[in-house]
Amino acid sequence: MPFLALGLSPDLCNAVNALGFTEPTPIQREAIAPILHGSDVWASAQTGSGKTAAFALPLLQRLQTLPAENRHQYGRAVRSLIIVPTRELAAQVGEVVRSLAQALPHHPKVVVASGGVSINPQMLALRGGADVLVATPGRLLDLAKQNAIQLATVRILILDEADRLLDLGFAEELARILTLLPPSRQTLLFSATFPPEVKGLVTQMLRDPVELSIEPDSLQESVIVQRAIRVDDNRRTQLLRHLVKENQWTRVLVFVATKYAAELVAEKLYKAGVYATAFHGDLSQGARSQVLAEFKDEQWEVVITTDLASRGIDISKLPVVVNYDLPRSAVDYVHRIGRTGRAGEPGLAVSFVGADALAHFALIQKRQAMDLPLETIAGFEATDAPTPVAPQATPGNGGIKGRRPSKKDKLRAAAASTTVR
Ligand code: AMP
Repeated sequence: MPFLALGLSPDLCNAVNALGFTEPTPIQREAIAPILHGSDVWASAQTGSGKTAAFALPLLQRLQTLPAENRHQYGRAVRSLIIVPTRELAAQVGEVVRSLAQALPHHPKVVVASGGVSINPQMLALRGGADVLVATPGRLLDLAKQNAIQLATVRILILDEADRLLDLGFAEELARILTLLPPSRQTLLFSATFPPEVKGLVTQMLRDPVELSIEPDSLQESVIVQRAIRVDDNRRTQLLRHLVKENQWTRVLVFVATKYAAELVAEKLYKAGVYATAFHGDLSQGARSQVLAEFKDEQWEVVITTDLASRGIDISKLPVVVNYDLPRSAVDYVHRIGRTGRAGEPGLAVSFVGADALAHFALIQKRQAMDLPLETIAGFEATDAPTPVAPQATPGNGGIKGRRPSKKDKLRAAAASTTVR
């Protein structure tokens, strides 16, 4: 099915063709028409499935037809708002929207605003308003506080990685933002996962939504090969180095539990001759952007990161993701491994499983309906046994987010005391 059949204008069809997209992905096929109709949409689709264009294309087309605000009355009117959880995702989504917007005769004004950099250029860019504002929640509230934007004019609201925005970390900021928006608007929620605890909020935000749940097609499903390797915690860095060298991996994204571990593992690998660096929230925004750009540019073999990089970030042709530390929840597992195998490319996701992580890994597997064999790599056979758990720590808990906090605390403590060799 061509893009044209979805009701998109010839200009936008040319724009997607220029990006090399020959036909819509399943989420684009399902989402574009209802958004063009003006419906609210609640879409859950696999990460890497083309979600950005699925909302950006119909958004741009609708903006062409919706009446413009009176510039005298609303000097800083924002006509549509895309909220994302991280600065990197803001930059990435902004780039996609801008490249599509350029194809339109009246170039819509697209502004990206996120924290970590001076607010002044963003305030300047927002003079006269914006057709599309892509923003992270904190910076958006700062801009509103400084009267740099008017949000009462927002016609279309999009939450990308919506489950992350609706969960506790952002819930309060999001609630404040929602009070600034008009109740009569079109709202679109996109995410790979919608855990049960955010579903209540979702239904409050949407009016009679079109619900889309795009199952990964068999191609998509088969592109990420998942492996689990049983290894002692204190041999993980050596094993990682061994795997990088042995398999000649040229670009690997490695997830650890803490910023501290990211620095430490990166340093150890670098000293052992692997081009590795860390990427986490304690780096300045300049350093974060630089690492990401250099990684995309193949200047780093390995980037060690926290869950900061688990959402939405699109690094095309990222062949390998490694869970050096397991994620806290099955949902995070999905997001992490979704960094590889993007847009139908093949991908490999490897999880290291230490003795103390066995029960947690079993729960992730259960939640994901997976049954991966635990592999052993010659020379790295595990010798450790699970740390005995004190009786009051309750047997059989798995630490999946929201269930048994005692295990989560235990995981954090384990991560903090990670011995990195
Ligand atoms: P997203 O899920 O929006 O992060 O997109 C994942 C990747 O798929 C990006 O690299 C996009 O450029 C690519 N992509 C999006 N739509 C299409 C399409 N229709 N055909 C081919 N690639 C696409």
